[in-house]
Amino acid sequence: MYKASEARYQDMPYRRCGRSGLLLPAISLGLWHNFGHIDIYDDFKNIIYRAFDRGITHFDLANNYGPPAGSAEENFGRIFKQDLKAYRDEMIISTKAGYYMWPGPYGEWGSRKYLIASLDQSLKRMGLDYVDIFYSHRPDPNTPLEETMMALDHVVRQGKALYVGISSYSPDQTREAARILRELGTPCLIHQPRYSMFDRWVEDGLLDTIEKDGIGSIVFSPLAQGLLTNKYIKGIPEGSRAAKAHGFLQKDQITESVIKKVVALNDIAKNRNQSLAQMAIVWLLKDERITSVLVGSSSVQQLDQNIDSLRNLNFEHSELKSIEDILNF
Ligand code: NDP
Repeated sequence: MYKASEARYQDMPYRRCGRSGLLLPAISLGLWHNFGHIDIYDDFKNIIYRAFDRGITHFDLANNYGPPAGSAEENFGRIFKQDLKAYRDEMIISTKAGYYMWPGPYGEWGSRKYLIASLDQSLKRMGLDYVDIFYSHRPDPNTPLEETMMALDHVVRQGKALYVGISSYSPDQTREAARILRELGTPCLIHQPRYSMFDRWVEDGLLDTIEKDGIGSIVFSPLAQGLLTNKYIKGIPEGSRAAKAHGFLQKDQITESVIKKVVALNDIAKNRNQSLAQMAIVWLLKDERITSVLVGSSSVQQLDQNIDSLRNLNFEHSELKSIEDILNF
């Protein structure tokens, strides 16, 4: 029987999500990979317990996480029912809808029909009465934004979600979505974009937009799915995401020029007494507009290492300059 550590709130910093009342842990745990039916139950159960024991209150899911799609929510629901139910009011659980989930015209994108049906399915799979955050997982070019935002507002009014967010919306789409939600009376809590040293599109307008609108952010793939660690320096290890057929990290993304940068970044991290993964995480947190960094982990050891990154949040100017030089060559 799991009992949460008494020390769970001792070390984790909590950061305010935009101009809302909600605080999120500086590091949150995502269940995109490693929590499906193809993975080992006891392994991911221990990752979740460890996360909660170390102050990670926020667990991020989506309807399609697995594989198979839906199974990460089922597994999370099983663990929740077994051992975490007593801690429900200490947890922030999110889910999303937007990508393909079931056949036919109502199984993906941003219609009211799809979003509401999908959230109902997610709640059933997880055995929850409500989620804390429900996201539109991607913008839909063919559905009026008003319809998608009205569906988000509706689920809050129904009590099925406490807050709503958007993921991977452009700066313009974000501004417009935030305006519609504000008028409906359900503010946009959070944006979930991809952001890492290797993918900096958010610096081109999105972070300014969310700051202005008082929206928080939680950034995904902060380690570029594992590229921003030392694991691929000497090839593709067995069991790694790039080695797995169902993994989203493709072998052809691991190019010579990427590895050259990784090796150089790894040297800077070593001088800071951090691993590259740790440096890549705190490099994101130096910007106060980043509420939380959303990591994935395939083991308790990785999770521990990632959380330990919070022991050194400071950067010298010279380190930042060297990092810029490496990223730009
Ligand atoms: P990361 O960039 O953190 O990649 C996680 C992977 O990196 C792990 O599975 C592991 O890979 C490797 N790794 C993690 N820590 C270490 C370490 N310390 N040392 C060595 N390797 C390490 O994030 P994800 O791409 O997994 O994304 C995180 C979360 O973001 C997702 O779970 C999901 O919740 C969310 N997300 C949202 C999206 C959206 O559209 N909104 C899209 C994608 C993700 P390995 O298996 O090789 O060990």
